[in-house]
Amino acid sequence: MQKEIIKKHTKIVATLGPASETVEILENMIRAGLNVARFNFSHGEYEWHERVMQNVRTAAKNVGVPVAILADLQGPRVRTHMEKELKIEQGETVRIFDVSYDDAKIKKNAQDEKVIVLDCPEIIKELSIGNEILIEDGLMKVRIVDIVEGYAIADVIDGGLVKNHKGINIPDARIPLPTVTKKDYDDLAFALAHDVDFVAMSFVRDGQDIVDLRKHMKKIIVDDMQLPKIVSKIECKEALNNLDGILRATDAVMIARGDLGIEANPSRITILEKDILKKSISHLRPVIVATQMLASMEHNARPTRAEVADVTNAVADHTDAVMLSGESSMGKYPVESVRTMAQVASETEISPYDDVLEAMSLTFSSEEVNVAHATYDFSRELDAQAIVIFSESGYTARLLSHFRPDQTILVATNNQKTYNQLALAWGVHSFLFVGENSRRECIDKTIEEAKDRGLLHTQDLVITVLGSTKAGKKLELTGTRIV
Ligand code: PEP
Repeated sequence: MQKEIIKKHTKIVATLGPASETVEILENMIRAGLNVARFNFSHGEYEWHERVMQNVRTAAKNVGVPVAILADLQGPRVRTHMEKELKIEQGETVRIFDVSYDDAKIKKNAQDEKVIVLDCPEIIKELSIGNEILIEDGLMKVRIVDIVEGYAIADVIDGGLVKNHKGINIPDARIPLPTVTKKDYDDLAFALAHDVDFVAMSFVRDGQDIVDLRKHMKKIIVDDMQLPKIVSKIECKEALNNLDGILRATDAVMIARGDLGIEANPSRITILEKDILKKSISHLRPVIVATQMLASMEHNARPTRAEVADVTNAVADHTDAVMLSGESSMGKYPVESVRTMAQVASETEISPYDDVLEAMSLTFSSEEVNVAHATYDFSRELDAQAIVIFSESGYTARLLSHFRPDQTILVATNNQKTYNQLALAWGVHSFLFVGENSRRECIDKTIEEAKDRGLLHTQDLVITVLGSTKAGKKLELTGTRIV
């Protein structure tokens, strides 16, 4: 069993790509602190996804810790559709077409004018004068000055080189695509067939999108399979306006700062991050802070000071997880990026800036909440080092995680999906038991394994939670010193 090298509560999600596809690199990333492997379905062939998913499972087994697999669906993403790259300069005028326009006519226009084509049919109909079109994560920007005969004329505000298949954002226009596109449905079928633990939905607009996706998944999974949890990516204005409904419907949240920073006011991105974090946590929804956290580590072995500050702030705001994108998928330093994130998380967690002075508030109360709260208080009063519980669905474990206790949370479960999915929950170390073990046996074995892994030490005080007060059953909170 692998000893945990860097002790941390905050989980790390890493996007996989050519830089991180082998079992060997994945094992090193897991040892450095990786908890969730993200497959971005905007890129890559199914053959690649299948092979690398298998590699993740092999690497997790070899290292002996759970690693969840997250399939991130592209969603209604508009892209450039360019036969050749096009240089555009500030002050120039360009013509914008979509692919529903006659191809021969587009080519004729391109002989005399600078032409950008968008891959979304009928999008020109949704545009108005004054709309801004941002190209490639906002690197380039044009503003529409006229709409004529099915195409738009735009002034170049920020120039650059427009390449093929680059992402487009038009913050103030309605994108005429459903939240789940034909490509997403195909990718979802592939993801479900490969038993992923999480599905991330891009450009979620409201809670109904999530209800519909869950209903669709229920129809296509086979009977004995468990549904993956849904991660809603908050990245457009509509999602910000409908955040409460989204939080009620979703299982988890990703603050997708790349698109959010383009669609909303970029100067407010950190304020928005703090707002979404606070709301998600109080709705008991695990939350991932994503994008450009250690961006310079795509090329450099060390992060900038500003990047360290960014990770520190997210951890101090009690995020469940922080995420790597290009750093881990195509950068030169995938393992070092994970290790750096783990080190920053660990340093922040032991600092006074991460302290939760009082238990965090929840938007609801229930018997389970009361038990979790009582366990949190009891462990704090006794200055215990760890809490160990049995959790079948993972719900009690997530409740306990919500209170962000100082104690290490050890969760015994008999469910493989729960074991994997808890990889995203703050502070939780899960242990899987298949077979005929009683809850008490699972808890005892968890304590033994945690000792072997270096998570528990002689003389540590461990609080064990058994049972519930529901239906007259008794609740046992026991303190045990490790010998
Ligand atoms: C983002 O926009 O920050 C994000 C995570 O989404 P994607 O990588 O799919 O663009």
